Amino acid sequence: MATSSVRVDLDGNPIKPLTICMIGAGGFIGSHLCEKLMAETQHTVLAVDVYNDKIKHLLEPDSLPWANRIQFHRLNIKNDSRLEGLIKCSDLTVNLAAICTPADYNTRPLDTIYSNFIDALPVVKYCSENNKRLIHFSTCEVYGKTIGSFLPQDSPLRQDPAYYILKEDTSPCIFGSIEKQRWSYACAKQLIERLIYAEGAENGLEFTIVRPFNWIGPRMDFIPGIDGPSEGVPRVLACFSNNLLRREPLKLVDGGKSQRTFVYIKDAIEAVHLMIENPARANGHIFNVGNPNNEVTVRQLAEMMTKVYANVSGEDSIETPTIDVSSKEFYGEGYDDSDKRIPDMTIINKQLGWDPKTSLWDLLESTLTYQHRTYAEAVRQSIAKPVAT
Ligand code: NAD
Ligand code: UDP
Repeated sequence: MATSSVRVDLDGNPIKPLTICMIGAGGFIGSHLCEKLMAETQHTVLAVDVYNDKIKHLLEPDSLPWANRIQFHRLNIKNDSRLEGLIKCSDLTVNLAAICTPADYNTRPLDTIYSNFIDALPVVKYCSENNKRLIHFSTCEVYGKTIGSFLPQDSPLRQDPAYYILKEDTSPCIFGSIEKQRWSYACAKQLIERLIYAEGAENGLEFTIVRPFNWIGPRMDFIPGIDGPSEGVPRVLACFSNNLLRREPLKLVDGGKSQRTFVYIKDAIEAVHLMIENPARANGHIFNVGNPNNEVTVRQLAEMMTKVYANVSGEDSIETPTIDVSSKEFYGEGYDDSDKRIPDMTIINKQLGWDPKTSLWDLLESTLTYQHRTYAEAVRQSIAKPVAT
C-alpha cells in the first residue's frame, strides 16, 4: 500500500486520525460530510441516523477503500441508550439531527421544538460530562428578521449594512410573535446555542456552533411523490426543482421578495472540514457559513433556475414560468419569513481562512444537472402512470 503523506492543520501540526460520532449523518449535509471525510482523510465516522439512503453509496459494497472507517448505526436519538456509548468512544461529536424544513415549523411546532432543543440536550450533556468536543449545527435563522426590516420602506438606512449584515457576536435575534409559529425552530435553535455556550463557560465544554446560510446542492431534501411524500413541502431548491421537472410554474410565496444568499454545499463542507481538523482555532466560536456574494430574491432564484434548467435539460421553459401564491395558502397559518440574510464572514475568515468560491449560476448548473439526471425519468413515468380509480 502506498504511504500517504502526513496531512497538517493550519498551524502546521500533523493531523491525527479521529473517531467522529456524526448524528444526522444520513441527511443532506451529513452525506456530503461523510463523503469528504472518507475520500480525503483517515478519520473514522460512526454515522448515526434513522435513514441511510443518502449514504448507501459509502456503506456498500464492503470492498470500498474506506469500508473499515465508516459504520452506520440506525438509531433515533430521542430514545436510544446506545447514544452515550457512541459519544464516549468518539473524539468528536458532530450533531446535525433536526427537523429543519420551514413547512414543519408552523404545522408541527411541537415536533420542531422537541427535535431542535429537547432531543439535542442529551447530546450536549454526554459531550460535556465525558469531556468530548462538540460541533453543533444551528442555523442562520437564529438572527430572525433584520433590524432594517422595521424601518420605513423609503428609509435610506435600509441601504446601510449596519442594518442588515448578520454578525455572530453583535447582531440581535429578532423573532415574530408567538402566534407566528414559524419562529419555533429559530427559538429552539437559539436556546440550544445558549445552553452549549453556557456549558462552555461554566463546565469547559469544547464546542463549535455552525450557522449555515442556505447551503444547497445535490441530495437536498426530496422530490415529492418520487423519493418523499407527494404532499410534502421541502425547502426551496427541491420545491423549484420539482416544479421544473414536472413542467409546472414555480410558486413564489408572497411575491418571492424575500432575499437569501445561497452557498454551494461543497464549499460549505470545506469549512466544516477545517473546523474538524483545527480545534484550537474553532473551539469556543460560533461561525456563519454562507456566501455573501450569492444574494438573490426568491423571484430571481426562480428565474435563474428556470434558465439553468432549460440549458441542462435541453427543454424550453414553459410559457408562464412562475405564479404568485400567498404564504397562508402555501404554508398555512403561522408562517412568517426572514426578509434578508447576508452573513458577515469576518470571524470564519480570520479563524480558518475560509472563503466560499462557487457562483450561484455555477452551483445551480451542477445541482440541476444532478436533479435532471436523477429524477427526470422517474417524474416522467409517474406522470404517465394512469391514476388509480
Ligand atoms: P436533513 O434533514 O437533510 O438532515 C437531518 C438528518 O437528521 C436527517 O437525515 C434525519 O433523519 C436525521 N435526524 C433527525 N432527527 C433524528 C433523530 N431523532 N435521530 C436520528 N437522526 C435524526 O437536514 P440538513 O440540511 O442536512 O441539515 C443538517 C443540520 O443543519 C440541521 O441541524 C439544520 O437545522 C442545520 N441547517 C441546515 C441548513 C441548510 O442550508 N441545509 C440551514 C440551516 C441550518
Ligand atoms: N419559497 C417559495 N416557493 C417555494 C418554496 C419556498 O417562494 O416553493 C420561499 C420561502 O417562502 C422563503 C424562501 O423561498 O422565502 C426560502 O425558503 P426555504 O424553504 O428554502 O427555507 P428558508 O430559507 O426560509 O429557511
